[in-house]
Parts: sequence; C-alpha cells; structure tokens
Amino acid sequence: MKKIGKLAVIGVGLIGGSFALALKRHRAVGRVVGVGRSRANLAAARRRRVIDEIADIPGAVGDADLVLLAVPPGQMAGVLKQIAPHLGPHTIVTDAGSTKQDVVAAARAALGPAFARFVPAHPIAGTENSGAAAAFPELFAGRTLIVTPQRETDRRALQRVTAAWKLCGMSIVTMTAAEHDRVFALVSHLPHLISFALVGQIARRKDGRRLFACGGGALRDMSRIAASSPEMWCDISFANRKALLDVTGDYLQEIGTLRDAVKRNDRVRFGKYLEKVSAARRRWTPRKR
Ligand code: NAD
Repeated sequence: MKKIGKLAVIGVGLIGGSFALALKRHRAVGRVVGVGRSRANLAAARRRRVIDEIADIPGAVGDADLVLLAVPPGQMAGVLKQIAPHLGPHTIVTDAGSTKQDVVAAARAALGPAFARFVPAHPIAGTENSGAAAAFPELFAGRTLIVTPQRETDRRALQRVTAAWKLCGMSIVTMTAAEHDRVFALVSHLPHLISFALVGQIARRKDGRRLFACGGGALRDMSRIAASSPEMWCDISFANRKALLDVTGDYLQEIGTLRDAVKRNDRVRFGKYLEKVSAARRRWTPRKR
C-alpha cells in the first residue's frame, strides 16, 4: 500500500483511534492529526500517541491525504458541511458510521464535486467502550469492512481506502447502502435494543441491585452491549428508524409466539421452536469481538 502522508481523524474515539494505531503499527502513515469535541479526550489520544497533533478542521483536512470521519452518526452531517470548504483537490474522505444511507445522503449534499472522493464504509468491529482510551490497534484484525460505493465514487479513492483497512486486518464486502441498513438493523441495531430493554426492565425494579447480584452467565452475555454509548445508540436508532421498526415488529412477534406457547401450556410447539433455533445457533460460530 502507498504510504498515507497525512491522516486526519475527526472523532478520535474507539474506531478512529484504533484505525490510527493500526496504520501506525504498520508504518503506513506519516502523520496523524486529530480533531475532536473534547479537549480531555484529544489530550489522552496524544499522550497515548494515537495522534501526533491536535488541530481544528481547516488545519486538519486542507492538506490531508485521507480524512476519516469517526464521529457519532448524528454528528456526521454537520462535520461533512464543516470540512467541505477546506478539502484539498486530492483529499480522500471516508467514514466509519454504523448507518450508511443517512451518511451517503449528507455527504452527497455537502461535498459537491468532492463527493466522488468520498468512500462510505463501516468496519464491523467494536466494543462497548468509547473514547481514545479504549482504542487498540488489533481491533480490526480478522474482521469485515462493509463498503457502499456510489455510482460517482472514484475507483482509485475506493482502492486507497480499502487498502488501508486491509492493512488493519480487514476483509472487504461491498453492499448497497440500503442493503447495509436493512442487514445491520437485524444483526446489530436490534440486539442492542433488546439488551438495553432487558437491562432496563431489571434496573428499574426496586430490588434491581439484588437482581443484578443474582445474575449469571446468561445475563452477562445478554447485557454487555447495554453499557454502550447512549449518544451513539440514540443516533443509530433514529438514523435507521424505518428498518429498525420493521425488525422490532418481527422480534415482538417471535417473543409473542414463545409467550403464547407457554401461556397455552403447549410444550410441543415451544420445544420445536427451541430445537430449530438451537441448531441454527450451533451452526454459526461467532467471532470473539
Ligand atoms: P467514540 O465515542 O469512541 O468516539 C467518537 C469520538 O467523536 C469521541 O471522541 C467524540 O468526542 C468525538 N466527537 C463527537 N462529536 C464530534 C464532532 N462534532 N466533531 C469532532 N469530534 C466529535 O465512538 P466510536 O465507537 O469510535 O464510533 C465512531 C463511529 O464509528 C460512529 O459513527 C459509529 O457509528 C461507528 N462505529 C462504531 C462501532 C462500535 O462498536 N463502537 C463499530 C463500528 C462503527
């Protein structure tokens, strides 16, 4: 891969910080400049050598080779508007947002001719932790990057961005933005909602603390992602509102089927459902992170 002279990371958190650390580890980047909302987080990023410099948007993006937008989804449109007037003629822009149709629409509206050098992407890797302190260079190893290129997308820009993520250890899958948002509503956004609701219904009970103290492996596995960033998950849920409403409706039906079988004392129906689901889960081996 051709070395990236200057990388600007807007939003130096778990994802932006880990991308910078992975590229630094491979000596694939000359200088990393960070832009952020929180001084304390940027200072932590510099202390950990995630970034080399702190800058404002004009100073960061003007002569950057690559700009990564790794802010919460609700901030993407505003940041795209802010960077647009300062982009150099060859600067490539990419994002890591968990939703794609909204980011693509915002980039198309904000970037003008530079939209051809915008590569929409979503790394399928993460943890429930946020901020530069949570970043680590192995985050993306063995994971998948979804890209949703548009008809205008410059092939060289796409190649440059995918080459950088491949170096971080990712394999690349291409989808349309609409397909991405439908798929991730089901396999990511819905599981987060279920986890928030599960923890919510325990936490709001008077004896919530005692109930948590009784929780074992089942509650631990089902609740981990309920500790995720509230801002991020508000943004994602509303950005992908339509697809999320569809899959939430389907899920309520499934839970209704199980509840109904218990209510009617229909052990056969309940058992058959569980057998099918248990076999499906055993056929799938999830990755560790
Ligand atoms: P994070 O909270 O760790 O980092 C986001 C950073 O953006 C924070 O440091 C925050 O201070 C900064 N920020 C917020 N608003 C800003 C603004 N207007 N200008 C500049 N900086 C701003 O979040 P993260 O987990 O790294 O997520 C970043 C992006 O990656 C999001 O779009 C998210 O949807 C996506 N993503 C997250 C995960 C995950 O599991 N966490 C996985 C894949 C993709």
